[in-house]
Amino acid sequence: MRAVTAPPSVDALQRPVHDLRISVTDRCNFRCVYCMPRDAFGPDHAFLPRDEILTFEEITRLVRAFVTLGVRKVRLTGGEPLIRRDLDRLVGMLSPIPGIEDLSLTTNGSLLTDRAEALAVAGLHRVTVSLDALDDPTFTRMNDARFPVARVLEGILAAETAGLGPVKINMVVKRGWNEAAVLPMARFFRGTGRVLRFIEYMDVGSTNGWRLDDVVPASEILATISAEFPARRYRYADGMGEIGIIASVSQPFCGDCVRARISADGKLYTCLFAVAGHDLRALIRSGASDEAMEVALRRIWLARDDRYSEERSAQTVQLTKVEMSYIGG
Ligand code: SAM
Repeated sequence: MRAVTAPPSVDALQRPVHDLRISVTDRCNFRCVYCMPRDAFGPDHAFLPRDEILTFEEITRLVRAFVTLGVRKVRLTGGEPLIRRDLDRLVGMLSPIPGIEDLSLTTNGSLLTDRAEALAVAGLHRVTVSLDALDDPTFTRMNDARFPVARVLEGILAAETAGLGPVKINMVVKRGWNEAAVLPMARFFRGTGRVLRFIEYMDVGSTNGWRLDDVVPASEILATISAEFPARRYRYADGMGEIGIIASVSQPFCGDCVRARISADGKLYTCLFAVAGHDLRALIRSGASDEAMEVALRRIWLARDDRYSEERSAQTVQLTKVEMSYIGG
């Protein structure tokens, strides 16, 4: 039971490590304009070769090691995590690990209808589904994969039926693309028990051509919603549920960031906006013991001093940061 009782590790800014996001693949069946634009992720794009991607056994070992540092929440993501074959087998390996209190998945929902039941049986607790609009013209323009809204909604229902609720819905708002979908989304999900979260478009990666002008700030999103449904921050005034706004551009929250990320090829990133990671795959494949791995992870976390969003400037925006599809959203 050492895993659960060890003192949590805190970084150079006194932040513990509590959440771990694991990207299980850098591939996706969508080409969302703000994440994997088709001109950068076309047929010639070099995705990670299979032998460079962590196996389920390697991921499980890393998660066990992270739990000894204090991790309690684990989220599987990508790329599109449901593209990874037999993902429910990985869920079944992670769910029994003592100390994990929350095991979740972020998905575009496209493959959820057929997979929700197996994931729930394997021990997944809940899912977050990304959906950027309720009308097909806007949604297909955003996902650039001709994927219709109805099939994502079907996936959400399947997740709820399988017991993977309450489902959170992530909507990235990009100026000129889908801000007109904010109110229809709020209307649709209000009072359903599903928590709709609006996400400010972020300068993750380097291929999406991010500009500050493309960001619809949280204050504007909240004002749009409040005009029809009075909402104090994050809760409708009439009790019809919650919304969330992830304002990492206009109101950075680095001081509260307790999140580590592992890319599909086993690099540890201590910030979503990082330019480089720590090679955990090399460590595992060199035959490191569990103790050696824990020591290495602790050393990395203790030295962590990232606070990119608080330091964002014209210069930092130009950095060659790793892509969201690779590091895991
Ligand atoms: N494919 C899965 C999905 O669609 O949810 C998981 C990976 S995706 C990278 C995770 C989340 O990151 C999605 O909700 C997506 O909309 C969001 N995302 C991607 N690029 C973003 C950006 N530049 N700014 C804000 N959110 C972004």
